[in-house]
Amino acid sequence: MYRLGLDPSSEKKLNDYNILDEIHTYSEHSHSHSHSHSEYDIVSHIDGIGVVSDNLWLDHSIKRSINIRTHIPSRPRQDVIKYVVRSGDTLFGISEKYGISPETILWSNPILKDDPHLLRAEQELLISPVSGVLRVVYEGDTVEGLASVYRSDVDDIVNWPSNNIDSENPQLVLGEVIVVPGGERDFVQWTVPRVARAKRNPLPAGAGPGACAGGYQGGAIGSGTFIWPAANRFLSGYNYSGYHQAIDIAAGLGDPIYASDSGVVVFAGWSNWGYGYMVVIDHGNGWQTLYSHLSQWNVSCGQSVYQGNVVGLSGSTGNSTGPHLHFEINYQGTRVNPWNYLP
Ligand SMILES: [Zn+2]
Repeated sequence: MYRLGLDPSSEKKLNDYNILDEIHTYSEHSHSHSHSHSEYDIVSHIDGIGVVSDNLWLDHSIKRSINIRTHIPSRPRQDVIKYVVRSGDTLFGISEKYGISPETILWSNPILKDDPHLLRAEQELLISPVSGVLRVVYEGDTVEGLASVYRSDVDDIVNWPSNNIDSENPQLVLGEVIVVPGGERDFVQWTVPRVARAKRNPLPAGAGPGACAGGYQGGAIGSGTFIWPAANRFLSGYNYSGYHQAIDIAAGLGDPIYASDSGVVVFAGWSNWGYGYMVVIDHGNGWQTLYSHLSQWNVSCGQSVYQGNVVGLSGSTGNSTGPHLHFEINYQGTRVNPWNYLP
């Protein structure tokens, strides 16, 4: 990278953008020209990725030997671009690559349903040039409406160059994608409806065959303290956040999964919400724990389980791209941060 004659301050930028990761990624697609391409990445990140790169992200067959430096724009990227997800991509990797927040990617791509687990290779994502929200214009949308819904600013929307909005007469064109700079919204929670042990559960038909009927009397009661549900005490996926109210604990295929506290099983089997094979334990004291993407479940509805019992085996069923344990702790209907309760 020094061959480019960069000033020392550029070095930090290179690190910020995980350039080495990118070089690695690109070289998978173009071994013979990866060297010249890595130069392109370095230069383009320093100057900001411009419209010239639109097709570059999409078209792996593009000639890597072209002298891309002659096309480098001098202004930051202003346009929305498409990105095709590659195998191994994460929400954080993509957001870092483009210098936007991970939330922006979720808020801009309904296909992800606010669930980072729904990221799949070959998906086409829209990438905003700036952190905020991308929104397709629907019937009845107005600039004021979008600004209000996404807690953004009318002027910021009108003035964003690629929105092409006439400030004198700010009309939106049906079907166009609008950049809402700085926009945000609450996350849609695609969560399993809470199931109770004592009551009969009026679960929607879509809950999946693992849903338990409920109405169980008595049974084990939790201690109110939790143990790690897997042998590992580190993550291999998403941490707890607004859009992932769970932790993804590292676990190999077939590793035993333990009841984090004692209680009664209120879900055991297939879930239709993307959790794959799942077990939910009601601890009888306001707490519930959820274990999902299992390859196997070893307990049944209404069964009492005790802290440390094996409830199933780790797997990658449902919306999962590799074996891990997606683990949730729920207190009276709210999914809390497991880090605050695990030892
Ligand atoms: Zn997860």
